[in-house]
Amino acid sequence: MTSAAVRDVSIFGEAIAYFNEAADLLELDSGMRRILTHPSRQIIFSIPFQRDSGEFEVFTGYRVQYNFARGPAKGGIRYHPGVTLDEVTALAFWMTWKCAVVDLPFGGSKGGVTCDPTTLSSSELERITRRYAAELVEVVGPDKDVPAPDVNTTPQVMAWFMDTYSMHVRQNVPGVVTGKPLEIGGSRGRVEATGRGVTICALDQMQKMSIDASRAAIVIQGFGNVGMHAAKLFAERGCKVVAISDISGAYYNEKGVNIDAALSHAAKFRTLEGFAGGERIGNAEMLLSNCDVLVPAALENVFTAQNAGQVKAKLIVEGSNGPTSPEADRIFKERGITVIPDIMGNAGGVTVSYFEWAQDRMGYFWKEHEVNERLEDVLLTNLHEIRKIAERRGATLRTAAYTLAIDRVVRALKLRGIYA
Ligand code: NAD
Repeated sequence: MTSAAVRDVSIFGEAIAYFNEAADLLELDSGMRRILTHPSRQIIFSIPFQRDSGEFEVFTGYRVQYNFARGPAKGGIRYHPGVTLDEVTALAFWMTWKCAVVDLPFGGSKGGVTCDPTTLSSSELERITRRYAAELVEVVGPDKDVPAPDVNTTPQVMAWFMDTYSMHVRQNVPGVVTGKPLEIGGSRGRVEATGRGVTICALDQMQKMSIDASRAAIVIQGFGNVGMHAAKLFAERGCKVVAISDISGAYYNEKGVNIDAALSHAAKFRTLEGFAGGERIGNAEMLLSNCDVLVPAALENVFTAQNAGQVKAKLIVEGSNGPTSPEADRIFKERGITVIPDIMGNAGGVTVSYFEWAQDRMGYFWKEHEVNERLEDVLLTNLHEIRKIAERRGATLRTAAYTLAIDRVVRALKLRGIYA
């Protein structure tokens, strides 16, 4: 379901369409537009590695550092067969606006390796990660560019990255990546932060839209880091999650899926395949099921002109990056479906990554409730700001979020000036 695999379009090209809409509202001059629609740096390299069988293979690695105006670049690493330069550039572009929308002192970046982790052993994954990190030693670091987990990368992958970087620079540098295990400088609350952010934004918006959380039906696509924690936290808040899904299929239960049972199943089998707590339906069908709130938490290109007209949710909270095409977004707007855009909806992860980076630099670690309270404060302050802009300008929350983010990046860029 990534990038051009489904539709022959440039994800980065589509992402720029959202930027342009907000840039028009801000009456941004053509020079600034030109600068902000070009990545600062794109790095492509080969990752030769040896299989456990002794055979050699070569994968392609990417790191795109999109913008540094507000601080060191920040963005995850994705391991997936569909990773392309276009996709990584779009993801780095979104990271730039995401960090700005929640007012973090970071620019935006993203990385990836075109590989299928389901076919790799743990030691193969470690070798790929160490080679990937070693290729980037000169251009990453706590004051340069700070990676984090994304699709198919875990705290263990971050630990290998941090160790490789530390070995190269001959000192312990926990702040080179975030999303690490607690034992080596991770932050409490980071693992569930993106899912927590989704629920914080969703519950606040539901209240605004008078959707009663105790009666609302919620559908969540994807049961990985983001989807499973969002599901767990919605259930903890007494909400009814009526459908969940992963790559194996979707599971629907009108009375509410037992999320604890789904979590146990996923922990045991690493997939929802065989989960008996709901009627098995198709992944595409699930997106069109009756619900109040729909949370995409898998990959890009989920809502397109083909299915947006049949979505029944009143509210979509984008846990994944880039799930909605610009045509689908227009259809949602016409149909009065509210969308909390990815750069706000899933910003909980990078916000706690920022807390982790700050804690690593201080060498002083916070209690979990402190992390969660600060997270809620950051997200709600900026969500409310976006809502005010949307109301004032008659814009969608997405355009309002881009407007806020672009304005913040442009201010930083103008203050710094262009070095020539
Ligand atoms: P993950 O690898 O942990 O999980 C991805 C999930 O999506 C898996 O359950 C997988 O089976 C499922 N999936 C894949 N294709 C699917 C399909 N066609 N239908 C239904 N399910 C499908 O990844 P993640 O970290 O949870 O990331 C998910 C999304 O959230 C990505 O867009 C990522 O960029 C974004 N995101 C993640 C974080 C984070 O902290 N991990 C932060 C911000 C944004």
